[in-house]
Amino acid sequence: MSVAEKKAGDAGVAAPTKRQHKDVYDLAGQAFRMIDRYETPPYPSTYALWFAYVSRSNTDLVSTVDEMLEKGGDISAYEIDEVCKSHLNEGDVQAAQQTIGRQFESQLASVLTMIQKSVSDSESFNETLNQIEEGLPQTASTDSIDAIISKLMVENRRMAEQSMELNSGLRESQKQIEKLNRELEEVRSQSMRDPLTSVANRRAFDARLTAEIEACTAPDSELCLVLADIDHFKKVNDTYGHRVGDEVLKVFAAIISENIKGQDMVARYGGEEFAVILPRTDIESAYGLIDKIRLQFSKTNLIFKQSRQGLGKITASFGIASHKPGIDAKGFIEQADRKLYLAKDLGRNQVQAEGIVDAAA
Ligand code: GH3
Ligand code: MG
Ligand code: MG
Repeated sequence: MSVAEKKAGDAGVAAPTKRQHKDVYDLAGQAFRMIDRYETPPYPSTYALWFAYVSRSNTDLVSTVDEMLEKGGDISAYEIDEVCKSHLNEGDVQAAQQTIGRQFESQLASVLTMIQKSVSDSESFNETLNQIEEGLPQTASTDSIDAIISKLMVENRRMAEQSMELNSGLRESQKQIEKLNRELEEVRSQSMRDPLTSVANRRAFDARLTAEIEACTAPDSELCLVLADIDHFKKVNDTYGHRVGDEVLKVFAAIISENIKGQDMVARYGGEEFAVILPRTDIESAYGLIDKIRLQFSKTNLIFKQSRQGLGKITASFGIASHKPGIDAKGFIEQADRKLYLAKDLGRNQVQAEGIVDAAA
């Protein structure tokens, strides 16, 4: 190791060489291609996984991913999450997010370079014209006029080629920028969404619940909170496997989503628990809506595509709380949670709501 390298190493800030920069960009490109090839969602965690995979720096991760690839079929968001949780740390995912941003910047930089090149080229074209113009009075012979014309033609062709190159380069870059823009948009919205079910995540839920409670100042304002939990879900996983469990979660989230509207929000609260915020809704209406969702889910006949066999009845339990002045988010969640546990205790597949005595299904 050279003295300079050692010094940089000691400070923990070894400056990357040009070659290393290029390698990082190559790997970044490969990671994006893997996202495309396996149609995995373009989220920072997915990108971090593919980046680590193509850079082959983590042998455990490489063999886990290889096993997943050998199995064939889709790689689910749940599997990606599991691999990231066990093989990568938070820093890797943040670094992935930054790399996506850097890709974007480098693409923009190359467009700017191209535009600058074209500007300086047209300046040099102008200069040639100026030189020719200046040279005209002294160059009246046929030979020199021929020379001027051929010089102009060469210059013209060069400009035409340059502008074609510029156009196709710009078009290509524009496509790349649009693609990166879409990916960045995904990254942004992903930070508020659950990758498996596509509903709001816990972070989005916490922010929204606090905002709704703060907005709930008028004496007649009504706000309900629902906590839902799939019954015996562990058994679903144990019997049919995690992938089937994931599908059940998606179906449950979709049924809730299609039954709510407007200001309502459904969020994945954790594991197989979901939360629903129902602003401007009284407890009776909330009960009616949630019981309809409960019934629809319990009647949904989930079947395996290949064997056409049914999964059997899967149900969920629900607890509803109605907001009272002075109660904060934590207290509100605890109220709904108590009702959810009552629903579980009383036999599951039912809705329990504050003040509704006749709630058992
Ligand atoms: P209960 O009726 O009392 O709610 O029983 P349960 O089995 O549903 O509850 P428990 O909390 O014991 O088990 C929840 C299970 O949910 C355990 C965990 O493996 C599973 N789980 C959590 N998140 C996911 C996920 O993203 N995908 C899958 N497939 N399973 C998950
Ligand atoms: Mg649970
Ligand atoms: Mg459960």
